Amino acid sequence: MKLSGKSIIAFRRGACNGDAIRAINPATGEELCPIYYSASPEEVDEAARLASKAFETYARISGKDKAIFLRKIAENIEDLSDELVERATQETALPVPRIKTETARTTNQLRLFANLVEEGSWVDARIDRGDPKRTPLPKPDVRSMLQPLGSVAVFCASNFPLAFSVAGGDTASALAGGNPVIVKAHHAHLGTAELVGLAVSRAVVECDLSEGVFSLLFGPGREVGRQLITHPLIKGGGFTGSRSGGQALMKLASSRPEPVPFYAEMSSVNPIFILPSALSERSEAIAKGLHSSVTLGAGQFCTNPGLVFIPHDRSEKLIERLCELMATTAPFTMLTPGICLAYQEGVERLCQNPRVELIAEQKVNETGHGLAGAALFQTDAISFLEDQSLGAEVFGPATLMIKYSSWEQLIDCARSLEGQLTATIHADTEELENSHDLIAILQTKAGRLVFKGFPTGVEVGYAMVHGGPFPATSDGRSTSVGTRAALRFTRSVCYQDWPDEALPKELQNANPLHIWRMVDGEIMNASVSDKL
Ligand code: NAP
Repeated sequence: MKLSGKSIIAFRRGACNGDAIRAINPATGEELCPIYYSASPEEVDEAARLASKAFETYARISGKDKAIFLRKIAENIEDLSDELVERATQETALPVPRIKTETARTTNQLRLFANLVEEGSWVDARIDRGDPKRTPLPKPDVRSMLQPLGSVAVFCASNFPLAFSVAGGDTASALAGGNPVIVKAHHAHLGTAELVGLAVSRAVVECDLSEGVFSLLFGPGREVGRQLITHPLIKGGGFTGSRSGGQALMKLASSRPEPVPFYAEMSSVNPIFILPSALSERSEAIAKGLHSSVTLGAGQFCTNPGLVFIPHDRSEKLIERLCELMATTAPFTMLTPGICLAYQEGVERLCQNPRVELIAEQKVNETGHGLAGAALFQTDAISFLEDQSLGAEVFGPATLMIKYSSWEQLIDCARSLEGQLTATIHADTEELENSHDLIAILQTKAGRLVFKGFPTGVEVGYAMVHGGPFPATSDGRSTSVGTRAALRFTRSVCYQDWPDEALPKELQNANPLHIWRMVDGEIMNASVSDKL
């Protein structure tokens, strides 16, 4: 497929008169063709207007039709095959198997949302039947369900060129919920974005949907992204990226004349708490697991473990083994020169901190392009508690081991943490039984608690929570992975004393969609609630 460098504005292509942007190959520094052109303010406005118009019809199509559309997007992405793999590897320096796995995750995710909306019960239909004979006042008939929000702006993530980009989790969940989507591409993978954008756009045509259901815009976040999230016709947003970028966009979304929800997934150091007996019993397994979790994908995962709390008096063997493993790790090409620089600065900041010791580092050949080495640091719990900067994210293959000397110190460290996507405990049975206080604190800090494992690798399913209190995300009640993600782009609408035939099908007496519903406080399966 020939790449054009132009934005996709519904069924039209953007003009070539905006600022020029080039994707680069981070492994070589080579600029990639074609030139991409920033969307003009008029084009952003047109995409928003067409999306708002499309909402009128797209919001009302059935779950079955939305499922057909989501599955069609998945098929069209699969049809891109080698072309997509080639372009994505050039733009990200990620290896072919990673891109193939991420493509499969993306299409599986689209199909998971298709299954959800096809089945239909996710809309949380509730029916409180009326009682005209109730005294002293008759009871009204009240019914409610989730309805879509409106047009959603999605910001692509640099570290997931597919699964959290054009047709990734935010887009899939917004479309599943009945919301048109306008994507702001990430400057690091423009060609990958265009290929996937064309696949989505083709699915809109093939499913005979309104043209504004999907648009893809190229251009800088501070111009195109800013205009998009402040556009009056945009009703919500999804983002994965830096804390500064996420906070800037959150602020824009909340300070509009009509504030809108903005779901940003930003910064997490995913602490691991290793208790003494677990460490004595499983030191080798913990060392190997930790090493692969820290270095997986060059540490460029939001679930990368950046802080590891270990008992001071039993730490020697683990640290020795980790140092050996780190020494054998080859340097990594980072996703973008900016991410590489930010990582090197983060490592340097820790090296300059007098309370921190660099204990293992992978040396990088100076002639390499965009390369960074894994780094292992250590400090003690008192230093960690006294220097808040030690809890900051260093995005890349680095981790800080914190040695604690007492349970009280460990608890104080847990209390001092900011919000996290994950928190992990390694404990034996007895230790876990005696860890109620630690678990209670971690439940307030993290969206996902992992036992005896490692936080990288996020399963996409019905129960997954990939969220957490600020700064992990902008809204700790939400998740950006798994089917619950669709709830973010909905709101509850209630119908009082509404004629049955005028209600949405989900709320009609005969339950024509045969979904699970709550009737007078009881959750009923289709066969029971059909008999209203
Ligand atoms: P980013 O700089 O936050 O960019 C993400 C998206 O937001 C891009 O589309 C960007 O536009 C836009 N954006 C950024 N700042 C903005 C602003 N002030 N106003 C409007 N739009 C804005 O993230 P990144 O490029 O992926 O990586 C930069 C750093 O973020 C990394 O070094 C790393 O530290 C961190 N990061 C963390 C995670 C995580 O999961 N914790 C993931 C990725 C990155 P442009 O296209 O113009 O840049």
